[in-house]
Amino acid sequence: MGGRRQQPLLPPVCCCPGALLITVITFYLLTTLIKSLQARHAPLADTDYQLTVLTEAQAAGARLPAFGQKLREAGLLPLRPTELKTMQINVGRMCNQVCKHCHVDAGPDRTEIMTRATMQLCLDALAQTDIEVVDLTGGRPR
Ligand code: SF4
Repeated sequence: MGGRRQQPLLPPVCCCPGALLITVITFYLLTTLIKSLQARHAPLADTDYQLTVLTEAQAAGARLPAFGQKLREAGLLPLRPTELKTMQINVGRMCNQVCKHCHVDAGPDRTEIMTRATMQLCLDALAQTDIEVVDLTGGRPR
């Protein structure tokens, strides 16, 4: 199959001491600092813990309006289907970045990725619609 080649994690190594030092530092950063919450065993990797934090913050008076309240304020209640404009596809958690805002805790250490069969199901479903926008989310190796 003609899929895109995975980008190597490390730059090519040459005999120049400066380049070697950069390679070692890059390797250190990639293998120790740049990891998903799950790989760092961070408590926030656990969704139950996330809910606990949010619940406790609300109980402590944090300004976290309920979803229903925000919908009411925006005049969107009761919710009604309108039209399907965007298909969002979560392709997995494997990514060469570790953004702090990532909602799926993606990272280079994650291995979960959409199977070809699931991708085909997405394409089949898409072909039956007029959807013009496909939003890829989840791990997105670049
Ligand atoms: S999936 Fe997107 S948000 Fe998450 S780490 Fe990768 S680039 Fe960042």
